[in-house]
Amino acid sequence: MAWLSPPSVETDSFLKVRIDAVYSIAFAMIGMDALGSAMIAGLFWQLGSHAWLAVWVVLSVLVVTGRAIFTHAYRSRGWPTVSPRVWAIALVGFAAMSGLLWGAALLRLVATGNDNQIMFVVCIALSGLTLSIANIAYWPVYVAFELPVMLAAAGGFALSGKPGHWMLAGAASIMAVALLGTSRRLSRYVLEAHHLAAANQALIDSLGERGRELEMACDALERVSNTDPLTGLANRRARDLRLADEWARSLRNGGSLAVIAIDVDRFKRFNDTHGHGEGDRALKAVADMLQAGVRGPIDLAARHGGEEFMLILPGVGLAGAASIAERVRVLVAQCHCDPACPLPEKVTISLGVAAIEPAPGRSVHELTIAADAALYQAKLAGRNRYEIGMTSPAADAA
Ligand code: GH3
Ligand code: MG
Ligand code: MG
Repeated sequence: MAWLSPPSVETDSFLKVRIDAVYSIAFAMIGMDALGSAMIAGLFWQLGSHAWLAVWVVLSVLVVTGRAIFTHAYRSRGWPTVSPRVWAIALVGFAAMSGLLWGAALLRLVATGNDNQIMFVVCIALSGLTLSIANIAYWPVYVAFELPVMLAAAGGFALSGKPGHWMLAGAASIMAVALLGTSRRLSRYVLEAHHLAAANQALIDSLGERGRELEMACDALERVSNTDPLTGLANRRARDLRLADEWARSLRNGGSLAVIAIDVDRFKRFNDTHGHGEGDRALKAVADMLQAGVRGPIDLAARHGGEEFMLILPGVGLAGAASIAERVRVLVAQCHCDPACPLPEKVTISLGVAAIEPAPGRSVHELTIAADAALYQAKLAGRNRYEIGMTSPAADAA
């Protein structure tokens, strides 16, 4: 009879969810219980069974009050240390007490009452059983009430000795077993629904988690694809994207755009003298100085080739760009004077400065070509200096 056994309290990970469901309707159930108890008390009064009436009223009040106290404590989390298992036992215990009380009253009234009284008390019992199906979320609660009530009804009919009493007793017994089977099946569906809901929630959580991981991976990929691994500056791709962006922004909003093309002087000789590793460290040191020489996130310092860099300076005119070029040139050239400088010897850079007022029909390539040409001029003019490329009157004025 494995189907009869209630789900194991210890192994049921959904115990908490299920007893939550039962406790959430417990006050309504207690109200119904009290109403039914009052009606049954009325029947005892009618029958003149004063001893039964007194015992019935006292026990009913005790059970209803006990249930109400436990329900209030559970719902207001009054006894936080009590485990779900104990709360479950309390639910079943009170349902059983209530079932036994109702069962005893039913047995007595069916066995000794007249036809009207029997009809009345059976109706009350059937109403109680129908309403208590709401406790199906935790099957043992329903069984603890249903079984004593139905068996007592069957017993009451058997004892009544009225015409057809054996048939009625048999029908009540069959109904008790049928209710057990049906309620068991229903409770399994409810449990299955809880499992499905939990599995769905777990799936949603894991999808959310995977989504966040994917987003982080995309961010990391985006960073890597835009960063020069040696210096940490923007790479050629990021430089080109930024140039296009700034060009479009200046076209829309007006204002000038300046760039400074930079090349480390005689770097081949530096590598030959100090080795490639030292050369890499020198490139990193130059990159750090360039980064330190520009305005945070507004300007962009990029390494777009071996020992070639570019500064992108939105909203800066030719004069402003020239002063920035001179500032970073001095920063690099004087680094070796500082004891903290990582460069083993004096390293210099040459710079080509250009600025333009973006306008329809012009292109950002004009700007970079002008800066490269100015850089070439700086090399020709002896290095460690900046030269100014194509000038736009509007930019120069800015
Ligand atoms: P110039 O003043 O005319 O620019 O002379 P240069 O020697 O700097 O120019 P050249 O183009 O002849 O040589 C550039 C050198 O930069 C050659 C190469 O070894 C070095 N270089 C380019 N990329 C790297 C790099 O990633 N690491 C190191 N250590 N060296 C690099
Ligand atoms: Mg070069
Ligand atoms: Mg060079």
